Amino acid sequence: MFSRSLQLFRPFGIQIEVHWSWLILAVLIASSLATGWFPVMVPDSTTGAYWIAGTLCAMGLFLSILIHEFCHAVVGRSFQMKIDRITLFLFGGVAHLDDEPPSPKAEFWMAIAGPIASVVLAFSFFGLYVLATGQAWPPLLQAALSYLASINIVVAIFNMLPGFPLDGGRVLRAAIWQFKGNIVTATRVASGFGQFFGILLLMLGFFVLFAGGGVSGIWSILLGFLLITFARSAYVQVAVRQSLHGKSIERFMNRAPATVTPETPVSELMRDMINHGDQSLYPVVESSGELLGCVDPSDISSIPENEWPYHQVAEITRTCAPDRRIEPEQDAEKALMQMSRQGHRELIVVRDNRLIGLLTQSALMKYLTLREA
Ligand SMILES: [Zn+2]
Repeated sequence: MFSRSLQLFRPFGIQIEVHWSWLILAVLIASSLATGWFPVMVPDSTTGAYWIAGTLCAMGLFLSILIHEFCHAVVGRSFQMKIDRITLFLFGGVAHLDDEPPSPKAEFWMAIAGPIASVVLAFSFFGLYVLATGQAWPPLLQAALSYLASINIVVAIFNMLPGFPLDGGRVLRAAIWQFKGNIVTATRVASGFGQFFGILLLMLGFFVLFAGGGVSGIWSILLGFLLITFARSAYVQVAVRQSLHGKSIERFMNRAPATVTPETPVSELMRDMINHGDQSLYPVVESSGELLGCVDPSDISSIPENEWPYHQVAEITRTCAPDRRIEPEQDAEKALMQMSRQGHRELIVVRDNRLIGLLTQSALMKYLTLREA
């Protein structure tokens, strides 16, 4: 439910997507401006004009948040961080990082870049507003500009709350990381603050809701809930990755995974699959030990069942996709990231085109749970 996003466009190789929660926010903003704020600020206009102004403001906020996120991404890239996706959601956006920032300094500058952008935007809209009042532009336009100036200040202030994963929380994490020299401790403290602010927002939301505040109460509850969720999962992610960092894959892999030869009848592969139920990829290995390719069990369905004994695995063997294989010298953190990025449950461990073993996500997870116990 929380991962549904709509893909929009792709400037400079950065995919821009909108999370469903942002769409709720956009509608809330447009409607509350059109029915509440604009009629108060500019009393003698038409309903249609209020809605146009409200929609334009929602779009202006959308663009502002996009610029905010782009500044994170650009600064992140200048520190050699790989950022290929920006998602806009309820409390702003996230520039997706494949890796943790390389240093506290990188984290600090990347985090602060967004709020700085929002402040610059606020001043720009304020400048336009001053110009608009001087030149006697339409009153609705003046009101829209003053709204966009103040909402950008709100965005800057909200994002600077010192709770991870908000920008302020990242600045806090960078400071603790710099001071303590440990990113896991820094993330734990900063995400603790994130959860604290999340709980505050939740409580505030319920208070507003019971006091008759309606929509803004629900908004605050949603914000608090998302903040708590993201803060907690961010910490788990860092802790998990840190405990697998530098650990050799060979420690976790199965050295004798189920394999097949190209001559194996498909019926026998089927029997094997029933015995090794959790394996979703079969390495096809020559008797000499050379890896020929991989079989995806779902490809069996291309052959009618009554013909399985007469067909060989070689007919459905494909080259093993690069994202399904890993070298034994890589560390377990890399392997886990590779699996979770592509949604694979296992990787085959290969050196010089010879199968060394099979690494499953469940083996890594088992290690992590035992380690925590
Ligand atoms: Zn930000």
